[in-house]
Amino acid sequence: MTAQSWRSLRHKKYQLSLRLFLFLNTFSALFSMLNPLYSVQALSLPIIIILTFSLSLLAWHWKNKARTINIPLISLFFGGLWAWHIAGKFSLVTGDQPLYLLVALLSVLFIGSLAFASDIKAFTLHSLPTFIICLSLSPHDQWLRMIYSVALPMAGIAIHQVIQKRNDLFAQQLLYRLQEERETLNDLSMMDPLTGLYNRRGLQNRIENLPAVKSGEHFVLLLDIDHFKAYNDHYGHMMGDQALIRVSAAIRNAVRSRDIVARFGGEEFMVLFTNITLEQARQRAERIRQQVYDLEIPHMFNESVATTVTISIGMAILEGENIEAALEKADKALYEAKHLGRNTILLSPEHQAI
Ligand code: GH3
Ligand code: MG
Ligand code: MG
Repeated sequence: MTAQSWRSLRHKKYQLSLRLFLFLNTFSALFSMLNPLYSVQALSLPIIIILTFSLSLLAWHWKNKARTINIPLISLFFGGLWAWHIAGKFSLVTGDQPLYLLVALLSVLFIGSLAFASDIKAFTLHSLPTFIICLSLSPHDQWLRMIYSVALPMAGIAIHQVIQKRNDLFAQQLLYRLQEERETLNDLSMMDPLTGLYNRRGLQNRIENLPAVKSGEHFVLLLDIDHFKAYNDHYGHMMGDQALIRVSAAIRNAVRSRDIVARFGGEEFMVLFTNITLEQARQRAERIRQQVYDLEIPHMFNESVATTVTISIGMAILEGENIEAALEKADKALYEAKHLGRNTILLSPEHQAI
C-alpha cells in the first residue's frame, strides 16, 4: 500500500512537470508570435509546430492521465524546435544580433529551469540545441557570457537533483521502515507472548489464508492440560507459566511444520492437521500426548498423589470449511476424554466409524 502511494506521488510529480513544460512552451510560442523580439514578424514553422504540439499534447495528457510521455525525448524535441526558430529568426534580426542571441538563449533556459528544476538530464537536453546554435552564431567575445548563462542554472539544477534524490531516498526508507514496523506489530498481535504460538486472532488469520484444501482430510484437535488448576495451586502461577511454555514447545515439536498450532485459551491449545489420513492424524495426536508425558513435569497433588503433567485431546474431522462445527465436536470429544481418566485421545463419536 505504501509502495503504491509512493508510486502515485512520483507519477503526480512527473505529471506536473510535464504539464508545466508544455504550458510554458505554449505560452512562450504564443508570446513570441504576438510580441516578437525586435518586432521581426517571424511566424516560423518551428513556432507553429511548438504551439500545436504543446497544445495537443496538453489536451491528450489531460484525457490520458495514466499515460506517460518520455520527458528527455520531449525536452530534446522542443529544445531542437526552439533552436531552429532562433536560427531562422537570427537571419532576419538587423539590430544587436549578439544581444538577441543572449536573450533568446536565456528565454529557453528559463523554460527549462522552471519545468525541470531538479532534472538535469531534461534541462540539458532542452537547452543544448539552442546553446550550440547561439554559440555558433555569436562572436567569440560573447562565448564566455553564454557559457556562464548555461553553466550557472546547470550547476544549480544538478545540486537540486542531488538534494531531491536524498530527500526521496530518506522518505522511501522511512516508508519501508514504517511498513516493516506495521508488519511486526501485526505479527505480534497474532502471537501469544507467553508461548510464541498463534493466539486466536492469528489462528483466524491463518485459517482465512489457508490455500483452498480440495482433496484430503483435515482434523481439528483441542488439547487441554489435565488438572492444571491444581498444578497452579500447588506450584504457583509462575511455575504454571513455565509448564505452559514447555508443554507448548512439546506440542509444536510433535507436529509437522505445516500444521497450525495455537493457544486457544488459558491452558487449552488447538492443532489443525491438513491433508492427513485418519490413521496419520491419530498417530500424530498420540505423538503429542506422548511427548508432553515424556517431559515428566512433576505434578504433586498432595503428599500421597504424585504424577506428571499430561494433556487430554479431543479430535474431530473438519468438514468443508466449517471450523466452528469441528471445534464443537472436538470439544465434546475432549470433555469425554477427561471423563475417561485424562491423558487420553478421543475422536469425536460422529467420526468413530470412519
Ligand atoms: P481439567 O483436567 O478438567 O482440565 O482440569 P483443570 O484444572 O486443568 O481445568 P480448569 O479449566 O478448571 O483450570 C484451568 C486452569 O488453568 C485455571 C488456571 O489456574 C490455569 N491457567 C489458565 N491460564 C493460565 C496461564 O496463563 N498461566 C497459568 N500459570 N495458569 C493458567
Ligand atoms: Mg481448561
Ligand atoms: Mg485443564
